[in-house]
Amino acid sequence: MAELAGKSVYITGGASGIGKAVVEAFIKEGAVVTVLDRSADGLGELEQQLGDSVRTITGDVTVYEDHQRAVQCAVEAFGKLDILVSNAGVFDAFAKFVDVTPQAMSDAYDMLFNINVKGSFFAAKAAVDELKRTRGNMIFTVSGAGFYPDGGGVWYTASKHAQIGLLRQLAFELAPDIRVNAVAPGGTLTALSVIPPLRPFVNVVDNETKAKSIKRRNPLQIAMEPEDHVGAYVLLASDKARAITGEVLASDGGLVVRGL
Ligand code: NAD
Repeated sequence: MAELAGKSVYITGGASGIGKAVVEAFIKEGAVVTVLDRSADGLGELEQQLGDSVRTITGDVTVYEDHQRAVQCAVEAFGKLDILVSNAGVFDAFAKFVDVTPQAMSDAYDMLFNINVKGSFFAAKAAVDELKRTRGNMIFTVSGAGFYPDGGGVWYTASKHAQIGLLRQLAFELAPDIRVNAVAPGGTLTALSVIPPLRPFVNVVDNETKAKSIKRRNPLQIAMEPEDHVGAYVLLASDKARAITGEVLASDGGLVVRGL
């Protein structure tokens, strides 16, 4: 049986990588999905591929009104909202704190925290009333960097810790109406982008090197692809998880056994 039959989902950052894989998996499980992303091209491809099961909004997760437009679109198109997946994010590519100038440090902080943290605050705020109506749930995409050092530099690691704080407090405040959980993927082969202020301070590695490094670091030795994580999202989104809230489900090839 389809696990998400008839569910209406709002997801941010669904035009690429992990978010796109989640959109595809949710639709296969019977859901209809509204996607907010800043990539108009990526959203165009998604519409062509998925047709009537998807609605798209070109926008920026740092702009509250863009989330409002997306939630309104979901409700107008599909009659309700059951699930929010706050997934859009950017990376610092392991930029070293000591190397980065104070100005770049500040610019990087503003840009990365606005997208990774404020983007999740805004998504949750814009969706909360509709989710209350349906007794729905929220899922945040966090990361192994939300627990361990060396999953990114200080900006990314601190931002993912902050998202976990947001989910725990929201799970507490929004119970019993709304469940709030997270998926923590390990290193995954995607186009996750390095924010501009840090580009002068990092080495961008090719995909083959990245795959080898991801494989070496996790005990299951998987060079993880976005599709490897979708089972965790489907489970947390579904009614089968009705007793789960405040939980972070690691999908990382077993990093918990050894850390990053
Ligand atoms: P990705 O770049 O393939 O996908 C991110 C999507 O978010 C893109 O479509 C991008 O256009 C969108 N986006 C970025 N900033 C945005 C903004 N301001 N407004 C609207 N859309 C925006 O990368 P991904 O790896 O799939 O990343 C998805 C999530 O997974 C992120 O939260 C990331 O931190 C997390 N994550 C990634 C990895 C990894 O190794 N790739 C590991 C753990 C967690």
